[in-house]
Amino acid sequence: MELYSGYINKLIEELAALPGIGSKSAQRLAFHLINMPQDKVNRLAAAIVDAKANVRYCKECYTLTDREVCPVCANQKRNHGLIMVVENTRDLAAYEKTGRYEGVYHVLHGAISPMLGIGPGDIKLKELMARLHDDVEEVIIATNSSLEGETTAMYISKMIKPVGIKVTRIASGVPVGGDLEYIDEVTLLRALEGRVEL
Ligand code: ZN
Repeated sequence: MELYSGYINKLIEELAALPGIGSKSAQRLAFHLINMPQDKVNRLAAAIVDAKANVRYCKECYTLTDREVCPVCANQKRNHGLIMVVENTRDLAAYEKTGRYEGVYHVLHGAISPMLGIGPGDIKLKELMARLHDDVEEVIIATNSSLEGETTAMYISKMIKPVGIKVTRIASGVPVGGDLEYIDEVTLLRALEGRVEL
């Protein structure tokens, strides 16, 4: 016997497929949505559809943005010879919040993970190599200090060294396995200032 209507089951199923949402949360959210006023539901649905239709990769750093080139890359006051490599757009946002980083970024959209079957070809590494022209002075690797983040950092370092560009890694002090976006600004700045050459 079906406990809920087919529509509710479908909604629960879609919500439960999202990261971090278990079946109980999915049920709670589904009933919350059903009980919401129609105009609020329409706004939420439109926000999802519009974001999906309009958000794209910056053609320089590959962060998610509404424009062809993101505001950081478009800013000529930033140091375009200093590239910080991060795993995702949330990490970029965490560094931007400190207001102290003057360079630009490169967003990988993931990290190498043999266990999850994510190889170098699955993240934006080719795109990083394509950006390494003569005017690049330093590449700062700011991937997470998880196993995947460290593996990715090593891979990038090996890849860039032959090119002759300085490669640094942000200091530890960033808790092991810690997602960059949850770390406070002081810790982030300390990790950045204490970066070491690889
Ligand atoms: Zn950009």
